[in-house]
Amino acid sequence: MSGSVASARDDAVTCPHCGARNRVPAAKAGVPRCGRCHNHLPWLTTAGDDNFDDVVTNATLPVLLDMWAPWCMPCRILEPGIVRAAKTFAGDLKVVKVNVDEAPKVADRLAARSIPMLLILQDGKERGKQVGALGPDALQKWIEGVMAS
Ligand SMILES: [Zn+2]
Repeated sequence: MSGSVASARDDAVTCPHCGARNRVPAAKAGVPRCGRCHNHLPWLTTAGDDNFDDVVTNATLPVLLDMWAPWCMPCRILEPGIVRAAKTFAGDLKVVKVNVDEAPKVADRLAARSIPMLLILQDGKERGKQVGALGPDALQKWIEGVMAS
């Protein structure tokens, strides 16, 4: 995977409603919808130092940000819940994973000294923060609580 074209990257998203494959730019504005059935698509993408503002700060949806690293075992416990949250909150939340090893400037800016660290950001402002792993059900409850606040 090359980081040099990260800001122009598209994600291939399979629609959970009709199975159509859709290409969704990581920095797209608004809410991605399936080109075939027009339902909201789950949005799970990645960001790094070079495109964090485009993908996260300037996002028009609230962002669930997952600060993780490949060597972090608790981060793996979180992973199924992160994937599920992208589906559960399709249309309401953009889910973005940031590998702190590959994005030291973002990790520094968000003071991600302990991972996994989850943030919910809206218009670049922090609405919620959770440090440490959660199971999928607890993660969903936490997201619902932050979104309702
Ligand atoms: Zn569809």
